[in-house]
Amino acid sequence: MPAAHVTELSRQTPVYGDYEVVVVGGGPAGIAAAIAAGRSGRSTICIERYGFCGGAGTAAGLSTFCGLHAVIYGKHEQVVHGIADDILARLERMDGLNKPHLTIQNQILAQAYDISAFKIAADELLAEANVHMLFHAFATGVVMASGNRIEAVLVETKSGRFAIRGRIFVDGSGDGDLAAWAGVPYEVGDGAGNMLYPSTMFRINGVDPEKAGRAWELVPKLMEEAEQRGRTFPRKKPIVRPQRNPIEWRANLTQIKNPNGTAVSGIDARELSYGEVEGRKQCWDVFQFIKENTPGFGQAYIVEIAPQIGIRETRRVLGEYVLTEADILGCRDFPDTIGVQGWPVEAHIKGDVKFVFAPKDSRGFNAIPYRIIVPQKVDNLLVAGRCASMSHEGQSSARVSGPCFIMGQAAGTAADLALGANVAPRKLDVAALQRRLLADGANLGASVGAVASS
Ligand SMILES: Cc1cc2nc3c(=O)[nH]c(=O)nc-3n(C[C@H](O)[C@H](O)[C@H](O)COP(=O)(O)OP(=O)(O)OC[C@H]3O[C@@H](n4cnc5c(N)ncnc54)[C@H](O)[C@@H]3O)c2cc1C
Repeated sequence: MPAAHVTELSRQTPVYGDYEVVVVGGGPAGIAAAIAAGRSGRSTICIERYGFCGGAGTAAGLSTFCGLHAVIYGKHEQVVHGIADDILARLERMDGLNKPHLTIQNQILAQAYDISAFKIAADELLAEANVHMLFHAFATGVVMASGNRIEAVLVETKSGRFAIRGRIFVDGSGDGDLAAWAGVPYEVGDGAGNMLYPSTMFRINGVDPEKAGRAWELVPKLMEEAEQRGRTFPRKKPIVRPQRNPIEWRANLTQIKNPNGTAVSGIDARELSYGEVEGRKQCWDVFQFIKENTPGFGQAYIVEIAPQIGIRETRRVLGEYVLTEADILGCRDFPDTIGVQGWPVEAHIKGDVKFVFAPKDSRGFNAIPYRIIVPQKVDNLLVAGRCASMSHEGQSSARVSGPCFIMGQAAGTAADLALGANVAPRKLDVAALQRRLLADGANLGASVGAVASS
């Protein structure tokens, strides 16, 4: 019987560089964190495993910003500002941004963008903030200076393995990789092992927009009727919508399950490999149905299946506070707010998507407390984005792009202030952070200075 392990030799790892702020991951959270730290004048590196930024927003083919808007006493308003505005303005200038559209049974606004434009907008804004980008670098571990301080992150690249030393680290990996390696406690799923189900996204080109009309309403109906006749689809509530140029449409309608019906895990290499193949198979199958049955789609083709399966949830790193569904639906305020968001709880459960909105007569948004990006145990780490400290249900809402921009901007800014004051991020003067975020255009809601019960 061959041994289950091999022994690696200990090795000396060359140092790629020393930075004040090291950000792992170039998704919405990582982009905003790196821009904020770079703009503050901190030497900043952003480590990204792919050759472009955008995270799920590009690599998983989303092409829509959710969570920038809220419904405030019945009125739709953009509530996420700051670096999010700079990204929107850059996309607009590139003619890569749609006007916001109503989604989820016309209940809330989302805003579509061109994926290539987003990649370039991120490149430009990061370069203007003097962020050093290290692409094609997969972070694989950390070297600890002590039990509660990270000294360096280890990366594998085409030119070998490097250590990147930093003073403050931001985990924007979406999966809480850095935090997990550093020994921060985390949770996965709902406690019974169920994570939100992933989806593989694809885009369709060659649509005749005139004939297609409002096919985003027709396709779900056609699918429902076909299901009644015995046809099966991966999940209910399909989203098929036009892009900036209406000959191109995006499709979000797959659901990637393991053979035993559980959600494919984004932190399990075997399941991910299975999921990629299964996702592409589903895309092809559902596309044939759309092509054959939807007016305007007869000459259409799949222009791209997203480079990777879209992972909604893996590790949620435990921080100083855990944001819950009750906080979201109760439109809660927090004295340490770093921004506000109003996306509903969007739970991708087996075979379906369940949406829960804050009550219609409510102000429609909740504050995001600074404490959810401050992890337990490790002193020179911040965790921003979908892997921040949220319950399974809370994350089902605050994982989308809008709140990820908020958390990222706050993490980069907090890193700067913590370095300036020579304190750990958990000891930061939150009022000073809030003043800086406001000065940098963020919207903290009405709750600054308000006394909340948490
Ligand atoms: C199918 C699907 C559809 C969605 N639809 C929408 C939508 O329409 N609108 C919306 O706003 N949100 C949507 N979301 C939610 C979306 O995931 C989040 O909005 C957002 O992308 C999360 O941002 P993040 O920066 O936390 O993580 P991610 O976007 O996951 O980015 C993490 C980044 O870190 C990099 N990375 C990870 N690990 C490492 C490592 N070890 N080393 C180096 N780099 C690493 C990744 O390559 C990636 O670039 C959807 C999600 C999925 C899966």
